[in-house]
Amino acid sequence: MLDYDLHCHSSFSDGSLTPAEVVGRAAERGVKVLALTDHDELEGLDEARAAAARHGMRFINGVEISVSWRSHTLHIVGLDIDPSYQPLAEGLQKVRSGRGARAKKMADELAKAGIGGVLQGAYHHATNPNMIGRTHFARYLVEAGHCKDVKSVFNRYLVKGKPGYVPHKWADLKDAIDWIRGSGGIAVMAHPGRYMCGRGSMGKKTMRELLVEFVEFGGQALEVVTGSHTPEQYAEFARYAEEFGLQCSCGSDFHGPGESWRDMGKLPDLPLSCRPVWQLWEQDASSKVA
Ligand code: AMP
Ligand code: MN
Ligand code: MN
Ligand code: MN
Repeated sequence: MLDYDLHCHSSFSDGSLTPAEVVGRAAERGVKVLALTDHDELEGLDEARAAAARHGMRFINGVEISVSWRSHTLHIVGLDIDPSYQPLAEGLQKVRSGRGARAKKMADELAKAGIGGVLQGAYHHATNPNMIGRTHFARYLVEAGHCKDVKSVFNRYLVKGKPGYVPHKWADLKDAIDWIRGSGGIAVMAHPGRYMCGRGSMGKKTMRELLVEFVEFGGQALEVVTGSHTPEQYAEFARYAEEFGLQCSCGSDFHGPGESWRDMGKLPDLPLSCRPVWQLWEQDASSKVA
């Protein structure tokens, strides 16, 4: 079992716990090295780092950047980033700025489908209004009794082809990697298995083309063990990592109690062929990580 958890969310994006609560839960569940990776947002890192110090846990500054690549939305995790690096902070500010207008369109689409009052309801669930997103809509729709849980809301309303799905242009892949690398961080392709399932998803050929570009632009790791992968996918993406010379990462992608694919920590070991991503900062004696 791994005591690293390098992907999770707080209420600064679409998690339901504060950064300090996330860290406390991780500590209780045996995590020794934690990265908080809020979507397009760095504001929770200071609180998480301070809490981690109180728990004697090693903390890695992280972020998960929303990216548009061809017709796909991808998530690129940055690990060991420097939150004070201006191009990163400014780039994320721009990525966030489109969320308000998108939320309004989502609410309009849902109203056309007969569900009103969603915008206000969703904002009520967003602690950080700049980061309004689909999860906040999902929580409101559960609260209002339209579905039994967040997952069902996504399947029924919020994914490609459903009434509340609004396409959106996020950051460019190259920009996201440049911001992460420029700040001294490591660029990780998050949950690749999720890009290969569902409507409009990519096939193996496209996944290979994506990985070629990712490596060309400076991407260094692939998330192999993540809450939304099956054990078969751990093996599959360990093979891709080997083929493309990528390090391997692991994280729960925890969003909140009772809501996520899996809880924090206690992740299964990486497949044997994997070179763990933490080698990159543990080998680096001059690493900024405290
Ligand atoms: P957004 O960035 O606003 O498009 O929201 C993306 C977030 O929605 C992801 O980070 C997940 O937290 C959540 N999400 C996406 N697809 C699903 C799904 N099928 N079930 C549950 N949550 C999902
Ligand atoms: Mn999320
Ligand atoms: Mn993600
Ligand atoms: Mn995530």
